[in-house]
Amino acid sequence: MQVLEKIKDTKDFIQAKKQEGKSIGFVPTMGALHEGHLSLMDYANNENDIVVVSVFVNPAQFNNPDDLKKYPRDLKGDLHKMEKKGIDMVFSPPVNEIYPDNEIKKTYHFGHLDKIMEGLYRPGHFNGVALVVHKLFEIISPHRAYFGEKDYQQLAVIKKLVEQENLQIEVIGCPIVRESDGLAMSSRNKRLSEEEREVAPVLYQTLKKAYEMKREKTVNEVKRFVEQEINNTNGMELEYFEIADSKTLTPVEEWKQSESPRAFIAAYLGNVRLIDNMAFY
Ligand code: AMP
Repeated sequence: MQVLEKIKDTKDFIQAKKQEGKSIGFVPTMGALHEGHLSLMDYANNENDIVVVSVFVNPAQFNNPDDLKKYPRDLKGDLHKMEKKGIDMVFSPPVNEIYPDNEIKKTYHFGHLDKIMEGLYRPGHFNGVALVVHKLFEIISPHRAYFGEKDYQQLAVIKKLVEQENLQIEVIGCPIVRESDGLAMSSRNKRLSEEEREVAPVLYQTLKKAYEMKREKTVNEVKRFVEQEINNTNGMELEYFEIADSKTLTPVEEWKQSESPRAFIAAYLGNVRLIDNMAFY
């Protein structure tokens, strides 16, 4: 497994593999790898000759400096896990390799996609995501790139980016991997205290209960239920609960407005922000 920090070396590696006629699968991550990340690597391994993983904690996508500072990092452990997965190349650049000091940063426009839910509560977040993913796509120019449905709105933003920038990359969404108690795996889960970790599955349990209510209750009634359920849970505070169409991410006010509604939730548990989502059809 090659571990590269420089853009030039990475491009050379990719070019050599492409000259050999190999297909390239790419998994972008911020490290502190868990089974969710590793499942993306499995998909990439199955569908490509060469798998490249990037490990880069992207400062541009953090709207909260404390969250960036506390973001878990474990490159040594990550490399060990990727070695075992048979990853061909890891790109783990320092920040100034991706963002040279004098560079003017681009602004992206994604219509309503970056103005709701995560976009609304984390201003600038998706611009930062687009900035780094666009750069990584240019450096690695993969045939296929793999993203988790855990960050469903991010997946929609990336698909839009690829369309807008006319990139020849197939973006593949992969299902959410959960702990046995239903908690969606996340690097941020490492920051939960023992008590918080016990409470955390309430997020998923509430989504399931809300889904069960769909047949008899209106969207607004379900929203009120979720708000009460989350805010009555020790240490938890709801940031948003939204129902939106899976394809367009247009918010839904009545069930009949969408054939494939999806529920999206974000809540604080102590000072750790957790997100989750679930198909409601
Ligand atoms: P991150 O390191 O948090 O930026 O995540 C890197 C990629 O892994 C993103 O495409 C995430 O959506 C995906 N991912 C993170 N957690 C999970 C999970 N529990 N299940 C599936 N994919 C995930």
